[in-house]
Amino acid sequence: MDTQEAYKELGLDPSASDAQLKATWRRLVAAWHPDRNAEAGAGRRMQIINKAYQHIRQLRDGHGNGADEAGDHRTEAAESPTADAGEAAEAQAPGNTHVRKVSLTLEETILGCTRTLRGHYRYTCNACVGKGQRVLAKACGTCHGSGAVHKTALFGWLWNSEECAECGGDGRLRAPCDVCDGSGELAVAYRRRVRFPAGLREGHVLSVPALRHGEIEIGLELQVEIEPHLFFTLDDDGVLRCEMPVNGYAWMAGRWVEVPTPNGVQQLRLNRDALVYRLRGQGFPSAVRGPRGDYHVKVVPVFPAQEDPGQEALLDQLIAMSTSMAEADHSQPLGQWQHRMKRWNSSKKEQARDH
Ligand SMILES: [Zn+2]
Ligand SMILES: [Zn+2]
Repeated sequence: MDTQEAYKELGLDPSASDAQLKATWRRLVAAWHPDRNAEAGAGRRMQIINKAYQHIRQLRDGHGNGADEAGDHRTEAAESPTADAGEAAEAQAPGNTHVRKVSLTLEETILGCTRTLRGHYRYTCNACVGKGQRVLAKACGTCHGSGAVHKTALFGWLWNSEECAECGGDGRLRAPCDVCDGSGELAVAYRRRVRFPAGLREGHVLSVPALRHGEIEIGLELQVEIEPHLFFTLDDDGVLRCEMPVNGYAWMAGRWVEVPTPNGVQQLRLNRDALVYRLRGQGFPSAVRGPRGDYHVKVVPVFPAQEDPGQEALLDQLIAMSTSMAEADHSQPLGQWQHRMKRWNSSKKEQARDH
């Protein structure tokens, strides 16, 4: 990025004051911060804005004014460390924040986790302030130091002069920057162990303080993404849910089944009067680092879809046995019912006989 581009990116004129520069940068960062801006390229855009700001700050801090020819002050910047460390830190910090996404599993967000993050951070080469070239004290080979080249028109008697494209008109020789090999950018690989607290939700942004990697300090801005889970879903209201099929007969019989929970497999006793089971304190944290909410397991009793002679025979046996037992006990609803049915039926028959 060159100076002109940097000012253009911020929508500023090079004559803008330091205060205007800072205010504009703050406004743009607020608008493009991925925390507040859902647009796909927001993170990348913020990096560009930070880069532009960093570029201009470096120019101004190195020179004390808005002069934008890289050649003269570049050597100064390389040789003398920045005087005011606090100010430099303020100018550098926004540019050295790597904004990236981190994908966590639901279990990791529920229980908290530690992850090792590896990445590459690209930043503007300080030696050439991103121009990719150095200006030498020698004359430009194309224009021989005049900064202008002559253009020959037809027949050679009309002479025109235009700015030398090679040196941009200042007449000085340029060489590729040897620090960045002419790219204007440097990259540093980093590796950080980051602790993620429990209770992070999709879209949460985590700031990790800057640490030195290579020759710069890099802070991380991590945007949390939650991977879809095989069993668990997290509702917007923060309730963790799971829906699982269970054997219908096991459900009727109140048997134990194994259910998945964020902490592992757990035994759950089915109850034929219940389809939803609330496991207290086993759900998603109510807030970051907060206590865990409830986990709701919904069971879907499944009965055989096809009639199986063996199972039918067993069911007939079961029905016959339970009916005779129920009928014997008139205090039970089924026994009472059968008793009433018999009485009602026989009174009908008597009425029919009387008429
Ligand atoms: Zn030239
Ligand atoms: Zn360079």
